[in-house]
Amino acid sequence: MKRAIISDIHANLEALEAVLDDIAAQGMDDVYCLGDIVGYGPNPRECIDRVMGLGLSILGNHDQGALYDPEGFSSGAERAIFWTRDQLEMDCGDPAQQAKRWEFLSELPRTHREGPFTFVHGSVRNPLSEYVFPEDVHNFRKLERIFALIDRYAFQGHTHVPGIFTEDGRFFSPDEVASRYPLPGNKMMVNVGSVGQPRDGDPRACYVVLTDAQLEFRRVPYPVEKTMTKIHAVPELDPFLADRLQEGR
Ligand code: ZN
Repeated sequence: MKRAIISDIHANLEALEAVLDDIAAQGMDDVYCLGDIVGYGPNPRECIDRVMGLGLSILGNHDQGALYDPEGFSSGAERAIFWTRDQLEMDCGDPAQQAKRWEFLSELPRTHREGPFTFVHGSVRNPLSEYVFPEDVHNFRKLERIFALIDRYAFQGHTHVPGIFTEDGRFFSPDEVASRYPLPGNKMMVNVGSVGQPRDGDPRACYVVLTDAQLEFRRVPYPVEKTMTKIHAVPELDPFLADRLQEGR
């Protein structure tokens, strides 16, 4: 079984297409998405259309924000969410596809369990909105409580910072493990990083390939400038949302 796990696309079509091409070139049995298909980026409809064809998707907080009333977002993120909703509600001449998108978003699960694996957007404790940052290794109590809820392996996104948390309270960035980590192993939390808005200083799209023997973090370059130009053309999308893509922050 060879599976790709992607997350936090954030309506970045160029990044998503580059990742899906990379996935297709390797011959994957399945592709799972851990949420935040939309929000921040310029192509929500196109990204939903592509993700709808994948094996499984989890609800992200930005997906939820587009569906219902956004809560707890910064003003820039909230404006992006209202713009995203407009894009999804706008008449594009294909009402059937439009209805399909809404139905798809509204039926996304918050958690998916499969054997030793749990898939969420934020954390197993609070699947939709809890952040688990690398700095949380200094908050042993927090990690301990979350790990108590994990069967064996939890896969998540949300922070856009890829890496592995171990039960003894350590965090390994992809660089620190040469992008690979062997399986089977002890309990761990794996952040698969972000396709469409990486924040670990590397602007390339990030995702994980999972097999029975290992997990591998992959980085895929994409035409960042093209996405930036699209964001700059939309007044409702803060220019910062474009600029940060260039630096991966
Ligand atoms: Zn996100």
